[in-house]
Amino acid sequence: MAQLAISKIAELLNAEFSALYPSEIVTRILLDSRQFSSAEGVLFFALRGKNHDGHKYIEDLVKKGVSHFVVEQMPTQTFDANFVVVPDSLKALQDLAKHIREQSSAAVIAVTGSNGKTVVKEWMGQILQKQFSTCRSPKSYNSQIGVPLSVWELEAKNEFAVFESGISEPDEMEKLEKILQPEIGIFTNIGSAHDANFESNSEKIAEKLKLFKHSKQLVYEANGSNLAKQIEVFTEERGIQLLSWTRENGPADLRIEVKIEEAQTVLIGTMDERTHTLQIPFTDAASIQNAIHCWRLGLELSLDEEEMKKSFAKLNPVEMRLQMKAGSNGNIIINDAYNSDMESLRVALHYLENQAGNRKKVLIISELQQSGLASEELFSRMAEVINRFELDEIIAIGKDLKNGAFALNSTAIFYPSTKHFLKNIYSHSFKQSAILLKGARSFHFEEISSALEEKSHQTVLNIYMNRMVYNLNYFRSKLNGGTRIMAMVKAFSYGSGTYEIANLLQFHKVDYLGVAYTDEGVALRKAGISLPILVLNAEPSSFHDLVEYNLEPEVYSFHQLEMLENALKNYNLSEAFKVHLKVETGMHRLGFVEDQLKDLAEKLKSHRHIKVASVFSHLAASDDPEQRDFTLGQVAKLKQMTDKLKSDLGYSFLRHISNSSGISQYPEAHFDMVRLGVGLYGIGSNVEDKKHLNVVSDLMASVSQVKQLKVGDSVGYGRTFVAEKPTTIAVVSIGYADGFRRSLSNGVGEVVISGKRYQVVGRVCMDMVMVDVTGSDVAEGDEVEVFGPTISVYELAQKMDTIPYEVLTGISSRVKRVYFME
Ligand SMILES: *Cc1c(COP(=O)(O)O)cnc(C)c1O
Repeated sequence: MAQLAISKIAELLNAEFSALYPSEIVTRILLDSRQFSSAEGVLFFALRGKNHDGHKYIEDLVKKGVSHFVVEQMPTQTFDANFVVVPDSLKALQDLAKHIREQSSAAVIAVTGSNGKTVVKEWMGQILQKQFSTCRSPKSYNSQIGVPLSVWELEAKNEFAVFESGISEPDEMEKLEKILQPEIGIFTNIGSAHDANFESNSEKIAEKLKLFKHSKQLVYEANGSNLAKQIEVFTEERGIQLLSWTRENGPADLRIEVKIEEAQTVLIGTMDERTHTLQIPFTDAASIQNAIHCWRLGLELSLDEEEMKKSFAKLNPVEMRLQMKAGSNGNIIINDAYNSDMESLRVALHYLENQAGNRKKVLIISELQQSGLASEELFSRMAEVINRFELDEIIAIGKDLKNGAFALNSTAIFYPSTKHFLKNIYSHSFKQSAILLKGARSFHFEEISSALEEKSHQTVLNIYMNRMVYNLNYFRSKLNGGTRIMAMVKAFSYGSGTYEIANLLQFHKVDYLGVAYTDEGVALRKAGISLPILVLNAEPSSFHDLVEYNLEPEVYSFHQLEMLENALKNYNLSEAFKVHLKVETGMHRLGFVEDQLKDLAEKLKSHRHIKVASVFSHLAASDDPEQRDFTLGQVAKLKQMTDKLKSDLGYSFLRHISNSSGISQYPEAHFDMVRLGVGLYGIGSNVEDKKHLNVVSDLMASVSQVKQLKVGDSVGYGRTFVAEKPTTIAVVSIGYADGFRRSLSNGVGEVVISGKRYQVVGRVCMDMVMVDVTGSDVAEGDEVEVFGPTISVYELAQKMDTIPYEVLTGISSRVKRVYFME
């Protein structure tokens, strides 16, 4: 990583500089105050975004000891810290990165494309590292801020650097090009769909190609596709040398024959009339393409052939996610199989800190192996990163860790190998702990993970947290800065989980959470959630818990109000108790009607224990454009009712009425807050929302058995299916008790195995269902998609004659939830 004096940084940025400590050295860039771990050497860039302003966190960070800031505006308060004032903090960050890049003598390789960027970057880095000092982007750092952070990792000794770059909007690539100035490029491929932000696929390609406008060489697959043609024109115009390869008959420098075997692929390549062979431990098309990109470049750079062979034979799948699942004894297990760079260790420890809530924090770590540093230096860096966090227990696995370089501030328990640890795992009796597993591949930490896991039914709901963040930000972009968001996490977060989701939402700064029952709120408080929580149906028997756990009820009737007032008399409250009034505007469910408002205001004025935090109503048909007038009537009615209440009560409160579909369809209904429910989980009610949102989960089962039927054999209860020809069926591990409804029996329902659809035969049972897989090579243990990339939740809902809400909330609690974080 780079190291620069703060005064030097100010000078590079041509910035106004108020220096208290001009010669102090910056070693780390911080962009998100929530990622703070320790203050030493940290420079915070106060970035401004649509819904975010880093300047707000300065005071807090100064208190924590951070002494260097890049800001767009001097704080009004005086702080004991260095401030570098620039017109645009993001641009300053990028300019700084550009400078670091220009000082480096490393040959820079940049990777872009729709898919495979991270894999190609990781593999190319691993292959080069065998022979050269090589820097590569951490994780999938490829954005306007990810690229500068990657460049910050460059060191003077690096001979190569491999960085990935991604864009989501026009004009972003030029900025990345200025920073990276790559000598060599790799264009992996292009997806067929064009993103919402580009006019066409060719516009997207043209935009991505800008990364290479000053490059000398570019690797691509010469397969005659539109992408290939566009690349050929682009490089021809600029005199860029193409490093081409092909699997077809057209012209290319490297011609490849692909032989797929049982568990590996043999690549036979001919270049300059010489034949080369390689083996890779993958058989899927994407891995094959990614590997050949790397090979083509390896041959160009004249890397040692024997070394390359060895590296390719041992390529690892690139795990791009943190995975979190429930363990036994109330533990949660966070499994980080990212390649083991220091940045990913730091990110994983943060994640542990954020997810742990009230749980004990445990780190199980092995010797890391892949960062190309000598072990002493590597171990001391590992310790340095770990020491920035407060952990309750550390378990270190590997013979060499116990030496002096791995100097932890707190005590750790050492084991020479994973086997030794597993033998002793019960002596640790983990309970109510958040356990982070961070192991190099050769340590086989998956064995630890399965030892700690809750053993249950093999049917899982995979929940992708990054999709939820994406959905949240989509709705945020529709709101004015001042409008608050209440995220609805009722009904087990629409089936997606409890504290895991609430925790993520708290981390991403929603303003309120909404639950259906008091118990749901209590569970969130116990898990350490501190956001304000609205309870929609607070029963009188739960009033004690409301007070005890600082939960805010919806109040919808005089009777309920009186009971609450009476209950509150038993407590010595230091502040008035917050409630949320529900008013009737057309749904005809719970709520006060207009005629009651005068009385209501009188009563509330006499109940001094109670304060109205908000007044709200609910839209009955915001998803139906035909009912626009009715919806606008509801909006007008809320306005009128709340105006009156406000003047009668003599103080103001928040007003809200909009649910997910109302947010994009009715900007006039945003008021002070919106209540975001199903949209957060990726379900849209109109074309535009559907285009942008991502369903957050996939429901996966597995094949328990494959069976051959003879003519006349029947399947399942009631024998509703009888084979008319020899038939093969697969028994799948999901039934109506999991949420796969019985109405999907007899050919109505379908599932997907290895990308192909198969129909349900016979009746759906409680825990299983049978599908017809005749003529396929479906085998026991195969993964089965119930909904996901092929069968959408919308489609499944339609087949079950219901709406996606019911599909999601109907997935029973015995289905294991597994969380993924990019
Ligand atoms: C569930 C619920 C919402 C969220 O509705 P979505 O359509 O899922 O966005 C909002 N307000 C109230 C009162 C609710 O009960």
